[in-house]
Amino acid sequence: MRKKIVIIGGGFGGISAAQEFGDYEADITVIDKTNHHVFQPLLYQVATAALSPADIAAPIRGILNKQKNITVVMDEVISIEKGSNNKKYKVSF
Ligand SMILES: Cc1cc2nc3c(=O)[nH]c(=O)nc-3n(C[C@H](O)[C@H](O)[C@H](O)COP(=O)(O)OP(=O)(O)OC[C@H]3O[C@@H](n4cnc5c(N)ncnc54)[C@H](O)[C@@H]3O)c2cc1C
Repeated sequence: MRKKIVIIGGGFGGISAAQEFGDYEADITVIDKTNHHVFQPLLYQVATAALSPADIAAPIRGILNKQKNITVVMDEVISIEKGSNNKKYKVSF
C-alpha cells in the first residue's frame, strides 16, 4: 500500500522535508494554517521598510508545485492522535 506522509507546517522544516520526500513513492500532504512560506531571517528588513512583505513570502503551493506527489492544504492542525498499533496517526484539521 502506498504510504501517506503528513507534514505539518510549511516553514523551513516543512518545506525541506517535503522537498526531501519529493521522490518517494508516497502521497505527501503539507498542511499549513497560512498559504505562504515566510523567510523569517529577512523580517527585520520588512520591519524597517527596506523590503515589502511580498519580498519575503511565497505561496507554499508555488514552492512545491513541481512535485506531483505533494498536496498542499491550508488549514490549522488541531490534534494528532496515535492509532492503536502505534504506526498510524490521525491528523485533524
Ligand atoms: C526575525 C527572525 C530572524 C531569524 N534569523 C535567522 C537567521 O539569520 N538564521 C537562522 O538560521 N535562523 C533564523 N531565524 C530562525 C528561523 O527562521 C527558524 O528557526 C525557522 O524558521 C524555524 O523553522 P520551522 O520550520 O521550525 O518553523 P517556521 O518557519 O516558524 O514554520 C512553522 C510553520 O508551521 C505553521 N503552523 C504552525 N502551527 C500550525 C498548525 N497548528 N497547523 C498548521 N500549520 C501550522 C506556521 O504557519 C508556519 O508556516 C530567525 C527567526 C526570526 C523570527
